[in-house]
Amino acid sequence: MPFGYSGFLKKKRNCMKEIVLSGIRPTGNLHLGNYFGAVRNFVKMQEENQCFFFIADYHSLTTHPTPSDLHGNVKQVLVEYLAAGLDPEKATLYIQSDVPEIAELYLILNMNAYMGELERVTTFKEKARKQPENVNAGLLTYPSLMAADILIHKAHKVPVGKDQEQHLEMTRTFARRFNRMYKEDFFPIPQAYNFGAELVKIPGLDGSGKMGKSEGEGNAIFLADDPKSIRKKVMRAVTDAGPEKPNQQKPEMIENLFSLLKVVSSSEVLTHFDEQYNNCSIRYGDLKKQLAEDMIVFTEPIRQRIIELSADESYISKVARIGAEKAHESAKKTIKEVREIIGFRSF
Ligand code: ATP
Ligand code: MG
Repeated sequence: MPFGYSGFLKKKRNCMKEIVLSGIRPTGNLHLGNYFGAVRNFVKMQEENQCFFFIADYHSLTTHPTPSDLHGNVKQVLVEYLAAGLDPEKATLYIQSDVPEIAELYLILNMNAYMGELERVTTFKEKARKQPENVNAGLLTYPSLMAADILIHKAHKVPVGKDQEQHLEMTRTFARRFNRMYKEDFFPIPQAYNFGAELVKIPGLDGSGKMGKSEGEGNAIFLADDPKSIRKKVMRAVTDAGPEKPNQQKPEMIENLFSLLKVVSSSEVLTHFDEQYNNCSIRYGDLKKQLAEDMIVFTEPIRQRIIELSADESYISKVARIGAEKAHESAKKTIKEVREIIGFRSF
């Protein structure tokens, strides 16, 4: 007998597992924002769900990386995914461009994505302002590619940071539109997800905005940073002259330092500095020293694994190869159904 009753139950349970998908662009090293906004959830979710985590190399072309930068960054993100705790035995880890069906679904979704709605996306407007010399069609249609990434595996949940909320809403719009035009309930309507809580936004060290891979010097603490550079970056973080009266509201740059303490330090440490802020006895130098040390305690084991894994080329290639096969199998199935329901003939 190929499998007994318990095997049957196990198989059925697998079928009922929720599908989870998320990705990270290979635009630089992973930082604390990527970890707390996204990867931490990936690590938890791989235990209970059918997970697909990928490296979004098609997406990174919107900013025209050189071939050698792109190549190096893709390997780096894969290494950092593994170092942060993703397990290729539990989740499917793959590189987006290894699955060309995503590009086909992107093309199809673009036929029902409208100029007006794409132009209204906040990140598009921001990018267009920041790089006016390179407002390419890929930048405008980023939400369609993101929708293709998610819908190609019919994902239910998408663990992302707060900055991706609007993009995910567009995926939901595109999925609903497709279902309405072609087949009811064909694509599940995916949800943005943070493990049992609100979506997270980790701020950068430069006083305003979010931590990001492409935000420039001094903004981000990378998982691969050594203790010396973490101390240096944190000590240089922007602060003000200090509170002038008890219990006053914290300005953004100070609130940001507290948000960082919140994710890496103990609640006692957080309360201690909060009280000091409220009674105006705080010394930002002490807060920053503590913050840097707590960041180091958190990142150091990950950094050590990054160093070990980077040296193991054959393991990294094997992970990418196996991931590509698994992702490809799932994508092929969806695209075959899509082709049929939109009316492409197969001879
Ligand atoms: P880039 O600056 O090139 O856009 P990024 O740092 O924003 O890079 P992405 O690859 O765009 O990283 O995003 C990967 C994942 O990390 C997404 O789920 C995103 O929501 C999350 N993320 C990125 N930055 C933060 C942050 N500061 N706080 C919380 N989540 C974040
Ligand atoms: Mg980003």
